[in-house]
Amino acid sequence: MTAARLGEAISAGEVSSVDATRAYLDQISRVDGEINAFLHVDEDAALAQARAVDERRAAGEELGPLAGVPVAHKDVFTTTDMPTTAASKILEGWQPPYDATVTARLRAAGMVILGKTNMDEFAMGSSTENSAFGVSHNPWDVSRIPGGSSGGSSAAVAAFEAPVATGTDTGGSIRQPAAVCGLVGAKPTYGGSSRYGLIAFASSLDTPGPIARNVLDAALLHEAFSGHDPRDATSVDAPVPPVVEAARRADVAGLRVGVVRELSGEGYHPGVLARFNETVETLESLGAKVVEVSCPSFTTALSAYYLIAPSECSSNLARFDAMRYGLRVGDDGTRSAEEVMSLTRAEGFGPEVKRRIMLGTYALSSGYYDAYYGSAQQVRTLIKRDFEAAFENVDVLVSPTTPTTAFPIGERADDPMAMYLADLCTIPTNLAGNAALSVPAGLSPDDNLPVGVQIMAPVLADDRAYRVGAALEAARNDTWGGTDLISKSPYSPQAG
Ligand code: GLN
Repeated sequence: MTAARLGEAISAGEVSSVDATRAYLDQISRVDGEINAFLHVDEDAALAQARAVDERRAAGEELGPLAGVPVAHKDVFTTTDMPTTAASKILEGWQPPYDATVTARLRAAGMVILGKTNMDEFAMGSSTENSAFGVSHNPWDVSRIPGGSSGGSSAAVAAFEAPVATGTDTGGSIRQPAAVCGLVGAKPTYGGSSRYGLIAFASSLDTPGPIARNVLDAALLHEAFSGHDPRDATSVDAPVPPVVEAARRADVAGLRVGVVRELSGEGYHPGVLARFNETVETLESLGAKVVEVSCPSFTTALSAYYLIAPSECSSNLARFDAMRYGLRVGDDGTRSAEEVMSLTRAEGFGPEVKRRIMLGTYALSSGYYDAYYGSAQQVRTLIKRDFEAAFENVDVLVSPTTPTTAFPIGERADDPMAMYLADLCTIPTNLAGNAALSVPAGLSPDDNLPVGVQIMAPVLADDRAYRVGAALEAARNDTWGGTDLISKSPYSPQAG
């Protein structure tokens, strides 16, 4: 069942939330040894939340669309009843004293939190290989990465361990894992979803968003946890764009679609480009007007991002000082506070996090600030202008979501530059702050693995991306024999 349908069935009393939750917990115990999507599962707590929803229904209460529906929650959001580690040794065992706004809103919607999902440490990475607690595996081929940094969330949803999951997207960490696992993932407009209680990586970029098996489910989750939050100073004080309505509307007739010239070509798998071109043809056949658009500054987005994100990370991660949170190493009464901090950070942070802290500290240091961080911010403005110019002539922009399909675990582990290239298509949107959605585009003819197509929309026009995504999904369900792509996944109940 989709999350939308499950929510209806629970509201109507056709299915109990306890039964639905138990089914997902069973699937977790069956397959998570192989997938490693979860860092923490709390069966009793999940069943208690489910029971509470069933009781509310029995008492005659009208339930919301996702009440009683289970959700997998990325371990970067604080939760008062479960540990929160951001997949880092430095936070191992830390139980936060407060809930993130996203967590609180999942609870308010009556959703059942199954557990916390694996990720790249502090959301730095594109493969989940940077987790301190082991890699997650792609359910389409367990020898491959599930994408990152929200790879535990995508693996959980693709392995049918949860109907939907939360993620965060700083440079592509929702859209990429969704793409390589055959799922739908949305990066809302920056500020459209709250960062309060989200362990900070790069504050001017971090954006919570949904991961789901279809567009409507993503829209329902998006709506459930988004919207203005006075506790987040960069939260947008505007209504949530009508994403659910757009997902139901699902038409593109007359819509102007721009294909970004700079986001294709060298470095892209032929199979990815083949599926992408086919998607563009589908959009045309559905009545969209397709034109090619040039966004020349997009070619510099990756370089700008890998100065800005590490700079913000070096500042944000200064708080892990061995005094206030989690791990403390070498505090034996003979060492100074500085020595304890240094020993703790040396042991508590993984190699990618240390690399970013060093890069960021360097880029921000006096004498280099203008040359690196300052220029990167100027490039950011140019990218924003490219988007603005493009959106004067088209309603949405499209590109592949990732240049390649899921790569084998270990292939890029020792080559940070190769890893960073996974972000080629997703980063411009983060730097500009607008909205984007990734939807499945079929399996690559090269390797039979999922390909994602990205739909980018202007700031606060998230609904437009959902409209296009839903139209594509509906058209695909016809061409894929009346079924969605995910039902072909090896872990799908339909696949046996
Ligand atoms: N892959 C990018 C990085 O490593 C983006 C990660 C993210 O979106 N959290 O920074």
